[in-house]
Amino acid sequence: MAIAHEYEYFAPASLFEATQILSQFGKKAAPLAGGTDLIVFIKEGMITPAAVIDLKRVKDLKALEIKAEGLFLGANTTFSDLVNSQIIKREYRLLWESAHSVASVGIRNRATVVGNICSAIPSMDAAPALLCYDAVVHLISLGSEREVPIQQWFVAPRKTLRKPDEIVAGISLKKPADKHAGIYLKLGRYKGEDLAQAGLGILVTEKWEYRLAFCAVAPIPARASSIEGLLFGKKLNPELILQVQNLIPTEIAPINDIRSSARYRTHICKVMMQRGLPAAVDRLNGVEIDNTGILGG
Ligand SMILES: Cc1cc2nc3c(=O)[nH]c(=O)nc-3n(C[C@H](O)[C@H](O)[C@H](O)COP(=O)(O)OP(=O)(O)OC[C@H]3O[C@@H](n4cnc5c(N)ncnc54)[C@H](O)[C@@H]3O)c2cc1C
Repeated sequence: MAIAHEYEYFAPASLFEATQILSQFGKKAAPLAGGTDLIVFIKEGMITPAAVIDLKRVKDLKALEIKAEGLFLGANTTFSDLVNSQIIKREYRLLWESAHSVASVGIRNRATVVGNICSAIPSMDAAPALLCYDAVVHLISLGSEREVPIQQWFVAPRKTLRKPDEIVAGISLKKPADKHAGIYLKLGRYKGEDLAQAGLGILVTEKWEYRLAFCAVAPIPARASSIEGLLFGKKLNPELILQVQNLIPTEIAPINDIRSSARYRTHICKVMMQRGLPAAVDRLNGVEIDNTGILGG
């Protein structure tokens, strides 16, 4: 499908320049990172921007830095940047696995993590990991900066707390202080470029603190706080896993759509929990588990 809509195209070289252009156009402008969502939105007439601000030439946005306080991902960080990083694979396994699950190499080479959370489609794969790592979104506009915890970022499907004159400069992630391990489970209809029917991120620490977050089974991705509360401080056993599974329907609100029925999504979340929790604990105990495939794929 061709793009039937005309817009001005800008390719600023600096973040300052980008915020200047954005301040002129406001709501009528759309920042472009990888374009894997934006171009589809424009082609389908879902949005009709007067200006597209291509951020790819802004070098400051291409950062993947491990700092004392955690990991910083600049807005131009692609899923391939994460998949190709041995440090991410070793230190932020849950994030690495969610990046690996996105579409195909071609899409991952262009698609950014920040574009993923700005599109804010309910099935976005980056969200469970970012929620489990207590990520913070860094926003910049002409003359001001602010930070938003990821738990508050998602407002509704395709709606975030980003204001029209703001650019997301990057995301920072914090790991739990204690030894921990994580896993990402994704159900898709087939191997290849399919969005999640359901996704679950799990982090567990040696002090038995559990962090869990779903995507694709509610209007916005979110942490499963009642399950986290039930599990807190406890070692896993089959009865506890059953109790967790029984709580799942209170934590999710799946819909029927072309990808799946609500009933199947609920069932598969229980299966993911049954497999994912022991697998995360096994990893905590040093067991190497291969998990780069997509369930159902
Ligand atoms: C074939 C195909 C398969 C896909 N499979 C998956 C999948 O498996 N999992 C998944 O999660 N997603 C998938 N997607 C969706 C898409 O690839 C992701 O959402 C991607 O992460 C979007 O990133 P992007 O850099 O391409 O964003 P863009 O398309 O450039 O932008 C997306 C949105 O974010 C805004 N934006 C981008 N950067 C910024 C910024 N720095 N500041 C403010 N706003 C910004 C744009 O204006 C736009 O509204 C798929 C898409 C396609 C086409």
